[in-house]
Amino acid sequence: MGGAGPGDVLIAGGGIGGLTLALSLAKRGIPCHVFEQRESFPDEGAGIQIGPNGTRILTELDITDALRPMAGVPHNLRVLDGETARQLAELPLGHTLAERHGAPYWVTHRRDLHGTLLAAALREPSIRITMATAVSNLRQDAEAVAIDAGGTHLEGRALVAADGIWSKLRTAHFDPTPPHFEKKSAARAVISRTDAPSGLRANATMAWLAPGAHVVHYPIRGGREIAIIVIVSEDAESRDWSTDVVPGWVAEHTRGFHTSLQQLLSVPTDWRKWSLHTLPPPKRIADGRLALLGDAAHPVLPFLAQGGVMAIEDAAVLAREIAAAGHDIREAFARYQQNRIPRVSKVAASSRRNGEIYHMGGAMAVARNLSMRALGGRRIIEGYDWLYGWRPPGG
Ligand SMILES: Cc1cc2nc3c(=O)[nH]c(=O)nc-3n(C[C@H](O)[C@H](O)[C@H](O)COP(=O)(O)OP(=O)(O)OC[C@H]3O[C@@H](n4cnc5c(N)ncnc54)[C@H](O)[C@@H]3O)c2cc1C
Repeated sequence: MGGAGPGDVLIAGGGIGGLTLALSLAKRGIPCHVFEQRESFPDEGAGIQIGPNGTRILTELDITDALRPMAGVPHNLRVLDGETARQLAELPLGHTLAERHGAPYWVTHRRDLHGTLLAAALREPSIRITMATAVSNLRQDAEAVAIDAGGTHLEGRALVAADGIWSKLRTAHFDPTPPHFEKKSAARAVISRTDAPSGLRANATMAWLAPGAHVVHYPIRGGREIAIIVIVSEDAESRDWSTDVVPGWVAEHTRGFHTSLQQLLSVPTDWRKWSLHTLPPPKRIADGRLALLGDAAHPVLPFLAQGGVMAIEDAAVLAREIAAAGHDIREAFARYQQNRIPRVSKVAASSRRNGEIYHMGGAMAVARNLSMRALGGRRIIEGYDWLYGWRPPGG
């Protein structure tokens, strides 16, 4: 393992957030050293959505050309009543959103997004990546930070903790409270598009809503595969992203859904799930030469499909602030904190609200369906201009 140079920004975690930060720093000529605790990146994960606020940043990082052949560009988001399959709203995505915001709405496999970021990072001479090395034991003073990286003592300019929702750097330096289990689980699977029922192969993201549960599916890998996510209420908690789903679990939790959807859900043979956890809106995400980024700072519930994108936004803002502040990295981190807390708190609250709306039952669901139909898809998506039209400060 190469030692970090004293001018390096150290990054704990080589997930989507950590790698996007590394590439954003490299664009500005700032060297960094990424430490990833895993020995390799296994083929974990399934679909992940990247709204225009994320693809705009990936384009600036020259990532989109490599990712495009693996991404899907759904024409629209169709919201359906899960029990009857009646359409409640059709929100235009595709050309409409790309023209409105100057960047497309993509859906992709997490592995393809992460793999594209990793390949780009490996080509950058100013980025070093060290695998199988967990960062711990941070100390800092006015001049530098010191860490233990897999048992080796290292110094750097600053440390960014992009170490995910179970961040030990967050609990050691900001708040010891562990993430709160929301009593919901998300199960995911990917199938070949040709295996899907013919009525569910359209180039659309489809969201089926039912009391206490919803299902989303969309084409990925240039339309060759379909990613499926099932989110349900569940008391059993897991801290693993890839918990095995026992046979019959999906069928049992989706009994009330329309038969055409049940047919789709019966296709995958390999389902994985993870439990949904949250933290209260953060009060601090920076302290001197230490900053939190992505899920380590602010896990977002998946009801707005913005978890990965918030990590991408964080990275873009943090790299800009570091470049703008020159030698004063503590000032850069303070500005990053000031900029990001209102934004991520608003997105997290909006996502939670969406979850409540999606999972409504009884009279509330009837009222929701009526108001969705009355409003219409175009007006609903325009209500998200604040989300998708976001640009980094100065961008
Ligand atoms: C294996 C996996 C599968 C996922 N699958 C999906 C999915 O299917 N759909 C979806 O919407 N979201 C999924 N996510 C979540 C999604 O990728 C994140 O919510 C989002 O991208 C935020 O990224 P992040 O970089 O902040 O955190 P993460 O993507 O969680 O990355 C954090 C990284 O930090 C590493 N790490 C942790 N502690 C240390 C340490 N002390 N030192 C060094 N490295 C450390 C972890 O090994 C991990 O690679 C998955 C995440 C993971 C890790």
